[in-house]
Amino acid sequence: MISEKGILLIISGPSGAGKGTVVSELKKHGDYALSISATTRQPRINEQDGIHYFFKTKECFEKMIENKELLEYACFCGNYYGTPASYVYEQIEKNKTVILEIEVQGALQVKESYPEAILVFLTPPSMEELERRLVSRATETPDKIKLRLGRAKEEFDIIDKYDYIVINDSVKRAVDDINCIVKSEKMKAERNINLKELFYNLCNNV
Ligand code: 5GP
Repeated sequence: MISEKGILLIISGPSGAGKGTVVSELKKHGDYALSISATTRQPRINEQDGIHYFFKTKECFEKMIENKELLEYACFCGNYYGTPASYVYEQIEKNKTVILEIEVQGALQVKESYPEAILVFLTPPSMEELERRLVSRATETPDKIKLRLGRAKEEFDIIDKYDYIVINDSVKRAVDDINCIVKSEKMKAERNINLKELFYNLCNNV
């Protein structure tokens, strides 16, 4: 398949939907480039700067906004999160499928400036399951869990703006579904218009 440019794949979904696990499985078994976001949130235990996030002060993050270094950014539960633009553009030019694991406001900003982006909303099978996962992963205080669950409700309100919904009741199935989405997106005629030119050239040479 000859695609002209890489694909920008956005994966959103509430905290506890399992985005991190699904994305790391996609990365292990597929030819994906994963964008690393900048954030002002404090690192969790086991999170490393430059691997999980670029951890920034508020001043530093605001400087990035001012310098237009971010493709998108949003405030989520009291912290800034944003996608450094240069890496994404570089990888798209190299024909890679770039994954952004970002929340809904940022996803909609990207869709506006880059309509070819594919928006996938990953959801757990139910709100009860979401709460259970958030509590059992124990990375947030009860207050923050409440905040994130409230935010999850707001996120569900705009899922109709997404291109695909994937239910994460099994990581393997969710990963397979996303791989299928990417595969069929790559086959879209509009992403392969250069094939027309190749066939013309071929015909002219016979
Ligand atoms: P967490 O604090 O759990 O790592 O992330 C909180 C939320 O921020 C998640 O929904 C995550 O997808 C989102 N997020 C992470 N990086 C970015 C980013 O660069 N931009 C935006 N808009 N959201 C992000």
